[in-house]
Amino acid sequence: MDQGVRTPDLTTWVCQVEHHRYFQEGAEPPVCSYCQQNPAEHLDHVIPRSQGGDLLPENLTPACEWCNMSKGARVAPVNPPAGYVGEWPPSFWPQRMTDWWHSTYGGNP
Ligand SMILES: [Zn+2]
Repeated sequence: MDQGVRTPDLTTWVCQVEHHRYFQEGAEPPVCSYCQQNPAEHLDHVIPRSQGGDLLPENLTPACEWCNMSKGARVAPVNPPAGYVGEWPPSFWPQRMTDWWHSTYGGNP
C-alpha cells in the first residue's frame, strides 16, 4: 500500500481557519444563522459543496448542531430546533432559502 503524501483536505483546512475566526477561545460562540436561537457549534456551507458551493469564507456561516444536521446537503434546515418559537421558515432567511423550503416542504400539510 502506498502510504505517501495525501492531498490535504482543503475544505477542512478552510473551515479550520474560519473556525478560529468565529469561535474564539473564551468568547461567546456566535448565534446560529439559521434559527438565531442556539449557539452555533459548526460552520456550515451555505451552498453545499455537493451543489457547487465554494470554499470561500463567504460561503461559510455559523450553525448550531441541529440546523447543521437538519440542513445537511440541502438549501436550508428542514425543521426548527427544539424550543424554537415563531414561524418556520423564519422571516430572516434569505428569499432563496424560504422559496426553496416552501417549494420542497410547503403545500403538503
Ligand atoms: Zn440553528
